[in-house]
Amino acid sequence: MSPGASVELSLPVTENTAAKKSGLSMEQQPVTHRERVRFRSGAFLILTQLLFLLYSLKYLLQPRRYPLFAMHSRNGGVLHWLKAGNVLGLTRQAVFRGKAFSAPLVPAFPSAAFDRMVANGGMNVLAAGTEWKRQIDLAILAVTRRCPLSCEHCYERYNTGGTETVSFDQWKRTIAALQRIGTSVIVLSGGEPMVRFEDVLELLSSADKSASDFHMHTSGMGVTRKRARLLREAGLTAAAVGLDDVVEARHDRLRGRPGSYRQALQAVDWFREEGILPYLNMCLTRTLIRSGDLWRYLELAKKANVAFIQMLEPRPCGGFLGNAADVLLTEDDRAAVMRFFEATRDRRQYRNTPIVYYVAYTEHPRQMGCMMGGLSHFAIDGQGNVTPCVFLPVGFGNILSEEFETIYNRMRKAIPHPVRATCPSLLLGRTLMKEAVRGTAMPVPHEIIREEFESIVHSADQTSGALQKESSGEPS
Ligand code: SF4
Repeated sequence: MSPGASVELSLPVTENTAAKKSGLSMEQQPVTHRERVRFRSGAFLILTQLLFLLYSLKYLLQPRRYPLFAMHSRNGGVLHWLKAGNVLGLTRQAVFRGKAFSAPLVPAFPSAAFDRMVANGGMNVLAAGTEWKRQIDLAILAVTRRCPLSCEHCYERYNTGGTETVSFDQWKRTIAALQRIGTSVIVLSGGEPMVRFEDVLELLSSADKSASDFHMHTSGMGVTRKRARLLREAGLTAAAVGLDDVVEARHDRLRGRPGSYRQALQAVDWFREEGILPYLNMCLTRTLIRSGDLWRYLELAKKANVAFIQMLEPRPCGGFLGNAADVLLTEDDRAAVMRFFEATRDRRQYRNTPIVYYVAYTEHPRQMGCMMGGLSHFAIDGQGNVTPCVFLPVGFGNILSEEFETIYNRMRKAIPHPVRATCPSLLLGRTLMKEAVRGTAMPVPHEIIREEFESIVHSADQTSGALQKESSGEPS
């Protein structure tokens, strides 16, 4: 499922009314430079959800147009979609320029991209791997190999540097293919995507924005106010800026460049002021957790007025492949993160702070399980290799030598259902390290480790997760 397939839905918004009247699309609408992210929670959110159910009649009454929409079924449907958000702790909703955002991998509501998601079964969160859910929630494309930083935790470490391998035309064709299959959110990442700014702008301009939302993952380097405006006009909906610490020196050290902390925060302001929803990507380091500074980070994020804090646990890949023992979180670290996450989710005092999206919690076997390989998300690296997850450098083929759909189908076959076990990136870390020492290029071709990969996917503890238990009536 889209872990993000959250529950918080927006009012049947009429916010585009002004745009329609003026004949301008949302991308073309002028912004006020006082754009703010606001949050819905509590009774207002419940009211919003009820109104969304009314809005859903539009889907229910047009079964040909929305063939995979269901009010309720064993496979999911809108009622389960609403429930899923509560199970995952997504109990608030960000509103920006009249649109509602439930999670980083759900399209803005209302929008044509959201409707397209519904038509493709994107709401059938329990049906990943079946015909009931065809939609990919999130595809992360490393549209450049170049980057001005040298972050310790970069998962693309094995790809960065050198010249571009994947041409503009190739990315354009791949985006079109992703939209044919059905992809809710396409993320332009890298490397640093701002380094390839003209191509990024052209990719956005030429893409079909009614089929997907477009996001960017950036360090903030290379962002200017003017560039932010051009990106919004070209169709960028949201931008996640990497901010790993509340202490400037620690962030700059991790990122390998003085000034990167200030530039990240400046970029957040420019994105928001120019009409692009800003949120933060944060690598959960031991230093940040053990210093107790997660709370200060939350205050900083609130001040920066971002929609989400997407918390990502370190994984043994990229820059962390060789030193996993020093960086992976311990059980105590995770317990501290959970306390932080639960407090921001449950306590009223945090209802106007950014929504904390804790990816490892969502993917825990008791929640949704690992949804790599296109069940919810997948990635294409800077050299065109298709991998099931940015944190799992296992290659299923390269878009420079094969059709994307062929590779995608191969990957889907190898990962037919969610993996309800420890994160496969953690389980395969040692094997990948051994391959790296042996001189195997990253990503490691799937065939080389097929047996171990299959045993993780198929022999893992497939115990039903919380949502599936609810679905089947089992006690959780
Ligand atoms: S491999 Fe790990 S990090 Fe990647 S989707 Fe699965 S659980 Fe998440």
